[in-house]
Amino acid sequence: MVYLSLSFRVKLDVEALNMVESIGNVTRHRRAPIVVKTSEGYLVRYVQVVSGESLAHAYQANLADLAVKLGLPVCPLCRRHEFLKHSDESLLKRDDAEPWEKDLAKKGIDAHTFESTVVKNCVVEDVGGFLYPQLTVKRTSKFQVSYLVPASEELEAVALEAQFHVRYAEEKEQQQIYWVETGSGVYTALFNLDIDGIGYTSSVKKEKVVDDEERLKRIKAAIQAAQLTFSNMLMGAKRTRFHPLWEITSAVLALSHPVAFAVSAGHRRNYIVSTVERARKQLDSLKKLGVGEDITIYYYIGNDRGVVEEPASGATRVELFEELFSKAIEYVEERVK
Ligand SMILES: [Zn+2]
Repeated sequence: MVYLSLSFRVKLDVEALNMVESIGNVTRHRRAPIVVKTSEGYLVRYVQVVSGESLAHAYQANLADLAVKLGLPVCPLCRRHEFLKHSDESLLKRDDAEPWEKDLAKKGIDAHTFESTVVKNCVVEDVGGFLYPQLTVKRTSKFQVSYLVPASEELEAVALEAQFHVRYAEEKEQQQIYWVETGSGVYTALFNLDIDGIGYTSSVKKEKVVDDEERLKRIKAAIQAAQLTFSNMLMGAKRTRFHPLWEITSAVLALSHPVAFAVSAGHRRNYIVSTVERARKQLDSLKKLGVGEDITIYYYIGNDRGVVEEPASGATRVELFEELFSKAIEYVEERVK
């Protein structure tokens, strides 16, 4: 199993990436509770967040667009970023359904054939999974993503504030006042990718459904789509007027094989060092069990220099956040067969 795990910190100023409701003329930002350690123990703080669903939608949209550019198959709905997936029989009978989709509605199709046909014809559902309850086809997503939340050790530098705006009209009485809650702070998120699962069925049995060349192309697209999503901040809603100012301040990426290893969350300033120490422990214990594990770690330190601790050994530093993903692609080119 080749497994990719990424954790990063990003400084966002004046973001309105995930709004949840309007109360009168105020649009509210999504909030969620996080647990924070203080000198007296743990307490809960309510802070602005961007949901994992929002990030997952953005990642899949970026993956769909990239896959189309690479000539990889993407189904008509995913191409339009309508991630209904193949979740209901009615969707198979749409007017614009492709012949392979219409065939899936025929009687006698078994769960395995259903999954392998969808995986073969849609990279987004290969990587992002789908659920078809009628035949109990449950394809688990090959990627996982957390919420984007303020880093718990940087809560002194977090603010949520409603900004005043006026919608102009020629008649003064018709001008409208509105407020948008915007957040600023150092945020963190986690992203994992089960590279081994891409191009294989998994619901009923494991079987490869595309050839090696296409599988490698799909894996590279899945990694590159993560780079596009996070390094360009191609995610979140309300982007027309509220594009945030962003800066990735540090990140750590681990590639592991054959046992999965997940990096530490970026809440704490020692998260890169902690990742390296945990990897060392996992390597030791697997070695004792006779498993020849490999964990390769790359990290990036930008403006977090002097704030986030750097490991003395056990990981390679890259000069740019984007390089983490090219290193990951090099890794899979060597190992994925
Ligand atoms: Zn699709």
